[in-house]
Amino acid sequence: MSVKFKGRNLESIDLIKQKLDIIDIASDYLKLTKAGSNHKALCPFHTEKTPSFIVNPERQTWHCFGACGVGGDVIELVIKIEKINFAEALKMLAQRAGVQLNNISSDKNSRLYDINLEACIFFKTQLELPEGNKAKEYIDKRGLNDEASEIFEFGFSPYGNSALVDKLTSLGFKEPEIIQSGLAIKRDNNQIRDFFYGRLMIPIKNSTGKVIGFGARVLDDSNPKYINTPTTPVFDKKSVLFGLSVASKGIRDNDSVVVVEGYLDVITAHQFGFKNVVASMGTALTANQVSSLKSRTNNFILAMDSDSAGREAVLRSLRNTYRVFERQLGQKSEVNLSVVLMPSGKDPDTQIRNNLSEWKKTIANPVPFVQFVIDSIIEKYDINSSSGKGQVVGEIAPLITHMVNPFEQDHYIDLLSGKLGVKRETVESALAKSMAGSARKRPALKKLANQNKDKPLYSDVTLKENWLEDYTMSVLLKMQEKTNSDMINSDYFRRTENREIYSLWRDLNETDKLGDIMSVQLEGHYKYLLSIQGNIPASGLNKEALLQLSDRLEYRHLQHLQRDILSSSEDIPSREIEDSVIKLNERIKQIDERNNSYNIK
Ligand SMILES: [Zn+2]
Repeated sequence: MSVKFKGRNLESIDLIKQKLDIIDIASDYLKLTKAGSNHKALCPFHTEKTPSFIVNPERQTWHCFGACGVGGDVIELVIKIEKINFAEALKMLAQRAGVQLNNISSDKNSRLYDINLEACIFFKTQLELPEGNKAKEYIDKRGLNDEASEIFEFGFSPYGNSALVDKLTSLGFKEPEIIQSGLAIKRDNNQIRDFFYGRLMIPIKNSTGKVIGFGARVLDDSNPKYINTPTTPVFDKKSVLFGLSVASKGIRDNDSVVVVEGYLDVITAHQFGFKNVVASMGTALTANQVSSLKSRTNNFILAMDSDSAGREAVLRSLRNTYRVFERQLGQKSEVNLSVVLMPSGKDPDTQIRNNLSEWKKTIANPVPFVQFVIDSIIEKYDINSSSGKGQVVGEIAPLITHMVNPFEQDHYIDLLSGKLGVKRETVESALAKSMAGSARKRPALKKLANQNKDKPLYSDVTLKENWLEDYTMSVLLKMQEKTNSDMINSDYFRRTENREIYSLWRDLNETDKLGDIMSVQLEGHYKYLLSIQGNIPASGLNKEALLQLSDRLEYRHLQHLQRDILSSSEDIPSREIEDSVIKLNERIKQIDERNNSYNIK
């Protein structure tokens, strides 16, 4: 087997990284001091007295050897410090480096933005015509005032087959792009017709205020009450937050965001002066949504309807949201996540209208997320029995043991022992036991390693640093199973594209396609990974192969860290650094012993 791969073109990400020096960028935020061939600083992500944050100018990387234990390249540094997402960080650094980002997508999609804008204007106009009276009556009936109508740009989609299509066609838009915008569908007889008709139209905008789709409500009691634009290149229900462009200032002013479920909850809240409210449009918060909020505040209040599917469903949705936070932040303590449960049968819209003082009180006293979960779990079991107590602890254990902040952890162990009426020590030992039982066990590799002793893996491919991670990423994508992501930590990837694609893939919803949510700057590399995939034989796609690859990546990563420490220590290392050296060496030895035949480069 002889496999040849073409190299990649030098793309904008590489260019940006070439033109910028991580030392310059880091110096903007941190007080760096020279330490051997590296630079040191107090870690900006955790509190410490002696510096354990090391920047390596040669590899252009950084790593915190203290409590965080995370690291990355210059782009990752800006993402974390500025609390912005990948695309935003790239834009910022591109400007600084004087590199033109090839934003094909904004050109590619500009027609879709135009169509949505024209449709918005069309619907608004229709609302003013006699045919729109029914929608106006509905707006009045719901108690929405003119200001709300103005700010949220209500409209009306007329009855009939193709009122909007005709309008858009007369403006010069072509059928295929109108269909692509989701505003029209093709019928069996090949004619196209309007997607929305006879509904109150509520434009959905992205964070910069561009119309990207619509929510639409019926004017009577028929079902479905709400429909929205199907997924298009510019609209994905799971990435957008309804009301964000309007709420942006309110979120910053209040330094908190209230996330509700429906359009009308947001609109009513704003009408009554609660300016920091947005809606997740019925889904649990996704990584994309969290990332667009995180640049504005760290205080999240989730207002959940309690009636829709019961407390168990609320819990499930919260757990998903929590996982998103956990993955995205690494350190959960960075964000204050709390919950407000609406009284049964009430949503924020009705609560604000009928019981304003109660709403104010609830919103001012949200329950911290973990406490909410503990209460909900306790409610499920009979905590007077010892088996009930055991079940409660078992279910709560992962949450408490994974806490980063020891004071927080301490607090919840106390809380739990109080609620269960048992001694603190009992809870602690039950937590420890429960976690030991669920620890992940890796398959023994000794046998396989021996079998392959004389046959190094993929020896016909030159093992360059980037190739190893490109190849691993391709295998991972091809194998699909998310459980495999446990083996790999995004820090192992040195190429920004791999790191980002890995994170996107790991946090991907079941219904989403990776290619659809890829930002333009990653597309080139993603295609390259797919072309590698096409060349991987089936024999290279199994857990063992992947484990070997991940071991090699981890090994490389650990060696880099080891070198960072060695080349930075001129004086006596801090306790924190000393600890991580010990851990590093242990881990390196472990991999060495297990995989001594991997031929690790
Ligand atoms: Zn740190």
